[in-house]
Amino acid sequence: MSSKFSNDLVDKVREANDIVSVVSDYVQLKKVGNRFIGLCPFHSERTPSFSVSPDRQLFYCFGCHVGGNVFTFIMKMEGLTFPEAVRRLGLRAGIDVSTSVESPQERAARERRESIYRVNALALAYYRQTLVHSPSAECARDYLKQRRIEADTQEKFKLGYAPASWDSLLTMLAKKGIGPTEVCEAGLALRASGGNRYYDRFRNRLVFPIVNVYGRVVGFGGRALDDSTPKYLNSPESAVFSKRSNLYGIDLASDSMRRSGKAVLVEGYMDVLSAHQAGQTNVVATLGTALTTEQARIVLRYADHVVLCYDADAAGSDATARGVSTTSAVGLDVRVAVLPQGHDPDSFIKEFGGEAFQRSVDEAVPFIRYQLDSLLDAVDWSDIESRLHGLEKVVDVLSGVDSEVERAEYTRELSERFNVDPGALALDVRKARMAAMRGTSRAGPGGNLRSGSRPKPSAWNHGLDDPIWGSKAYLEVERALVRLATESLQNRTRIMETIGPDGFKMPAHQRLFRLLCDVGENGAVTPAELVDCVDAELKDYASSVLFGAKPWESEPDALENALTAWQQFSTRHRLNEIDDEIKEADVAGDYERVYELQAEQKKLRYLLGRDVPLY
Ligand SMILES: [Zn+2]
Repeated sequence: MSSKFSNDLVDKVREANDIVSVVSDYVQLKKVGNRFIGLCPFHSERTPSFSVSPDRQLFYCFGCHVGGNVFTFIMKMEGLTFPEAVRRLGLRAGIDVSTSVESPQERAARERRESIYRVNALALAYYRQTLVHSPSAECARDYLKQRRIEADTQEKFKLGYAPASWDSLLTMLAKKGIGPTEVCEAGLALRASGGNRYYDRFRNRLVFPIVNVYGRVVGFGGRALDDSTPKYLNSPESAVFSKRSNLYGIDLASDSMRRSGKAVLVEGYMDVLSAHQAGQTNVVATLGTALTTEQARIVLRYADHVVLCYDADAAGSDATARGVSTTSAVGLDVRVAVLPQGHDPDSFIKEFGGEAFQRSVDEAVPFIRYQLDSLLDAVDWSDIESRLHGLEKVVDVLSGVDSEVERAEYTRELSERFNVDPGALALDVRKARMAAMRGTSRAGPGGNLRSGSRPKPSAWNHGLDDPIWGSKAYLEVERALVRLATESLQNRTRIMETIGPDGFKMPAHQRLFRLLCDVGENGAVTPAELVDCVDAELKDYASSVLFGAKPWESEPDALENALTAWQQFSTRHRLNEIDDEIKEADVAGDYERVYELQAEQKKLRYLLGRDVPLY
């Protein structure tokens, strides 16, 4: 981890902040054995799976698989960068981590972010003020009245109005000593091409402030109130705003999402406003982009379940399919709320009321059901061609369902619907499924919908299709070796001499071992220290490894036992290879080589102490 702080200072701050005490500021912890447990602050749950180890100074959640040390915790909890976390915890422990240790670049970046936040906050106040009081905002107030957005809702979402003027915001900010370049950095003004003239980005627009989970205004969305295009305009990306990693309404929805364990995703600003106004307060919207993984992860911090409620049209159903795969990939349980054709959540609530919307959300269906229903709706039952075509698509969808029981259930239901023999339909589905499995590239429509499967650190996880190296039992040995390596320099040396870094077959473990050898030249490396140096995408996994110690590992001969176990797996791996090599040599007629291999085989089997018949 590159930082501007000396390692000594980082160590000092870490040691001064006991993880149990820091976590207790946010989570109610209860002591169980040698750990503390509580309800995870990063995902919604009713039974505690969040665990803190005072010995290891680590936390780990067995539910959402987030883990780390005291710095990681505060970074995730408060949305801080590493240096910010060190500073925050330094302050907490009364250690002087003054800004002098900030590098000039770091300081410039921080000041730039602070400046944007300040400009945004002033702009919000100005737009809000204008909407409420200015005669020029009549058109915006009329528009909101016509869309039936009440004053309370306008206030809650801090809606505003950007007047139809080229420089009213710039002029207002200039009076507060803020120059045009700063306003441009915040994305609220533009520089005219080939000149030193600037003009406001948002003109004659209804303005929706975009507020992040920490309650700070990061950007704005503006809806045109005349024929200007685009109809909706967002702030550009800036040092504080990224469309990909923000959700509209998250500041107002997060509590309700956490309480209900459920989030509702919609597409538009108006959808969010109407839903909240109707009492459905766990609703957020993407910002004019397809749902991203970053956004799905934000949702996962507050809820396990997500309901997608997009426009009921072709574009909406494409967005739904993409949204389903994004949200289920991060481990969310995803369902789809179906609105009548031609409606979006806003128009639906206006026509049928908030309770009807609530019902649609409650009655949201699994994606498979949604797909099948859309297919069935498109079938012209009086036309045989259309029926056959529909049936073909149904087979395709069903072949992607992983659960046997579910597949059988749907197959039975659909054979009735199409009036075909259930056995014949089941056979077609099975054939399509086999074909999909043989074909390498085709992922079944339901292939990524297995609930509970979470992404592993893929780049660190490759090459483990080997029957020995990839086996659960073997990987447990590697994990134990990583844990034992954290205990002493002596252990690391012994591992280095016996199996070397290459002895770790899983790239993630090899990486951890190498880091341990690098950072811990002078002795024990605490797990909490290791988490600081490890690659960002490996932090959660590293924590889960360090957290997984088995009782036998505390025995005095644990390291030797683990190395013996490793040796046995390694021998078995070589035996597998020999099997193949003997067959090859045999085919090639190289009997001398066969003889040699058989001798090695015999020796290895003897070493393994196993009574296996010879080839
Ligand atoms: Zn969790």
